[in-house]
Amino acid sequence: ALTGHKGWKPAWRDPEPQPSYDIVIIGGGGHGLATAYYLAKVYGQKRIAVLEKGWIGGGNVGRNTTIIRSNYLLDGNEPFYEFSLKLWEGLEQELNYNAMVSQRGILNLIHTDAQRDAFIRRGNAMLLNGADADLLTTAQIKQRYPFLNTDNARFPIKGGLAQHRGGTVRHDAVAWGYARGADQLGVDIIQNCEVTGFVMENGACTGVETSRGVIKAGKVASCVAGSSSRVMEKAGMRLPIESHVLQAFVSEGLKPVLPGVITFGAGHFYCSQSDKGGLVFGGDIDGYNSYAQRGNLPVVEDVCEGGMAIFPMLGRARLLRMWGGIMDMSMDGSPIIDRTHIDGLFFNGGWCYGGFKATPASGYVYAHLLATGEPHPTATAYRFDRFNRGLMIDEKGMGNQPN
Ligand code: FAD
Repeated sequence: ALTGHKGWKPAWRDPEPQPSYDIVIIGGGGHGLATAYYLAKVYGQKRIAVLEKGWIGGGNVGRNTTIIRSNYLLDGNEPFYEFSLKLWEGLEQELNYNAMVSQRGILNLIHTDAQRDAFIRRGNAMLLNGADADLLTTAQIKQRYPFLNTDNARFPIKGGLAQHRGGTVRHDAVAWGYARGADQLGVDIIQNCEVTGFVMENGACTGVETSRGVIKAGKVASCVAGSSSRVMEKAGMRLPIESHVLQAFVSEGLKPVLPGVITFGAGHFYCSQSDKGGLVFGGDIDGYNSYAQRGNLPVVEDVCEGGMAIFPMLGRARLLRMWGGIMDMSMDGSPIIDRTHIDGLFFNGGWCYGGFKATPASGYVYAHLLATGEPHPTATAYRFDRFNRGLMIDEKGMGNQPN
């Protein structure tokens, strides 16, 4: 900054769109950029473009509360999220980029005996899948998190399920790191290029119409998170997805008070403390469907009530910022990564409020599907037809839990 940023080179090129590519990815969020990176790096694919209607990192990848974890119960989910956590653990070396991957731990608080039983079951499923899980007592929690209201609370804390390898990652650095890595491997990242329609020939998808002209493609891969329904509608598809706003909040900077991430088990509230000192927190989605990237006050009140119930010192902190992002809420809370019924058109979406932690694995397994035509072994359950066949991956209170 002292040099006025003179002579700094952009971290990735700003290429003009080519008339055609082998693979076109729609959406330059974390998942789209990671897909492009692994397609080029692991699967040796060439002539790839990522088309982004706005700017890299302007969507949910730059709006989330940065939490990563692999503390799921169900077979369809846990191997995938553990694969993702392992990729996070090597990400900075892989991309040679400081993404501030911080394994400060995540703690799901327990408030009832029934909840303890459920969390023990989930912890065992995690261990069986090679993840880490640790059941903490109230005394251990008091020692590590002295500002939580453990005793005299509406919902006393009766323990917690900890995943010490969980934590936080600087979210927009993830977008920038993957963008730079993909660009260096020859991927064209084209910003300010909105996909407005699909080119269909003989029932197959052979390209996209964009605000910068028609671009032909061997394969078209949609990866637009909260815009999934609107984009796939242009191909005549109606998805099992609703769009809702999720809000997030940051307080003024405080001295260290929260060493890891905590989630309240009796209401919608979760919180971590950023390296700058701000308390980063959130809760449930706004209850109505919306494409507005901002929310309403009733949810603000609900989130703050949850926070005050468990973490009363929050009431003394001033709120610095709040914002919203559009969630692609699938009907069972789990994602879809699949080919569509239209030849040449693929889909990745339905991440609800938990897709940031999935970014590396989502990109990897989507690249696998696009390159090989087969689902990656950790993502075989994320098919469209599970809704027809009744094989929902309904991770009650976990897949559906914000963060
Ligand atoms: P995005 O960054 O939204 O990427 C999609 C891109 O597609 C956007 O850049 C958009 O501009 C582009 N696009 C849309 N339409 C078009 C078009 N027609 N043509 C071209 N481009 C288009 N997850 C966690 O795991 N942990 C958390 O702590 C967490 N907290 C969250 C908190 C909030 C407030 C929010 C909003 C989300 C949170 N999430 C969290 C969810 C997570 O952010 C998302 O699931 C994930 O980022 C979605 O994938 P993405 O990064 O590819 O999405």
